[in-house]
Amino acid sequence: MIDTLRLTAEEANAMLTQGDASSDEIYRAYLDAIGVRDPELHCYLHVCENDGGEGIPIAVKDVIGTKGIPTTAGSKILEGYTPVYDSTVVERLRARGLRILGKTNTDEFAMGSSTENSAFGPSHNPWDPSRVPGGSGGGSAAAVSAGLAPWALGSDTGGSIKQPSALCGNVGLRPTYGTVSRYGIVAFASSLDQVGPVARTVRDCAFLYSVIAGRDECDSTTVELPRPVEVPQDEDVRGLRVGVPKELNEAEGIEPGVTEAVRAAIAKLEELGAEVGECSLPLSVEYGMPCYYLIAPAEASSNLARYDGVRYGYRADAAERLEMYQRTRDEGFGDEPKRRILVGTYALSAGYYDAYYGQAQKVRTVIKREHDALFETFDALVSPTSPTVAFPLGARTADPLAMYLSDLLTIPSCMAGLPGLSIPCGLSEGLPVGLQLVGPQFAENTLFRLGHALERAIGFDTVPERLR
Ligand code: GLN
Repeated sequence: MIDTLRLTAEEANAMLTQGDASSDEIYRAYLDAIGVRDPELHCYLHVCENDGGEGIPIAVKDVIGTKGIPTTAGSKILEGYTPVYDSTVVERLRARGLRILGKTNTDEFAMGSSTENSAFGPSHNPWDPSRVPGGSGGGSAAAVSAGLAPWALGSDTGGSIKQPSALCGNVGLRPTYGTVSRYGIVAFASSLDQVGPVARTVRDCAFLYSVIAGRDECDSTTVELPRPVEVPQDEDVRGLRVGVPKELNEAEGIEPGVTEAVRAAIAKLEELGAEVGECSLPLSVEYGMPCYYLIAPAEASSNLARYDGVRYGYRADAAERLEMYQRTRDEGFGDEPKRRILVGTYALSAGYYDAYYGQAQKVRTVIKREHDALFETFDALVSPTSPTVAFPLGARTADPLAMYLSDLLTIPSCMAGLPGLSIPCGLSEGLPVGLQLVGPQFAENTLFRLGHALERAIGFDTVPERLR
């Protein structure tokens, strides 16, 4: 009997190499678990009956292109689209023998914080199915949390790996911008999008990062990692300097239970020998959101121009060409992509470009510098990942601004291109609380060390209470 609820990728791999189970047996065990629990949770938009390879399974967010496997990005406009090539990250999974279980649910074009913007209906949080799993990568996070995949790939533009990982009690890494290829990924905002791992442990997360990271000839924004990924072995964090940015820890709207769990974890870091000190990120937290909500929609409006009914997926019936374009986009896109296309097109239009997009780019530089200055004193920064625990389905759908605030704490470091790791640090009201560690560019190894030590010290049980 393979208990997929508890199995880490590392343990699944050990079963395989020690001959305790075959690749097929492990793959089948996950398909069986999906058959039992996915009807309630709706983590998957597509489940593979089978997939080649000799290794362990993995789930892949549906914005990541997979040869021969449907890829919709949660949008009706891509319904029926099956890529003819693999994205680079998927090629790298395949090179290690990893087998794809299926494609996980996402807000349409990764725009959202709850999966409620998916054209195919939301996913549910395995800790409490009346609540959201976070987003946009809620499908990947919920799948890992419910034992429907040992690990998964997500994508993060402003928080879509870190925030759902926090809400579902997983470990999620948003890598340094430029360390993971975007080739073959459905583009949202190209200067922000990064693919990264979602897992049950920091070690699994580090291992999966080592599989996907590094220079890719097909994505000119990628670089080789300056040093190899170190999968953490011990719990030694002595001497590491950890900053506690006041504004990220005291922002309005952070729930008391979240603050309490994060404070307790920070105290543990000190006990483990880290040097903890207060610091400040005043401009980044105040201007991060408005700046993101100009730059991301501006880039999205350009990236989404390609969906015109000619090249991919959905095409509306129409007597002539212009009408076909218009009706395809009207019927194919949901409300959130339309909202962003409108805002983005406006921000980029002649006469407004300098005032909005140009200004936002300047603010982005300020945010980057403010972070860089702190890293002269600190090796990493700590805060909650999400201001709140998982919220009820429907609670924020009528108010886009309330939904946008879900990413208040994850967006600033994304704007600065920095890596961020979210680990579960406790419960509030019976729901997981995520702790965010942010480092300077290419400091993933430091985040893994801190995250691993904390994870051991906290001893968080990642299996949702109702499934134990
Ligand atoms: N929730 C944010 C948005 O809607 C971030 C999404 C993401 O990281 N893909 O833009």
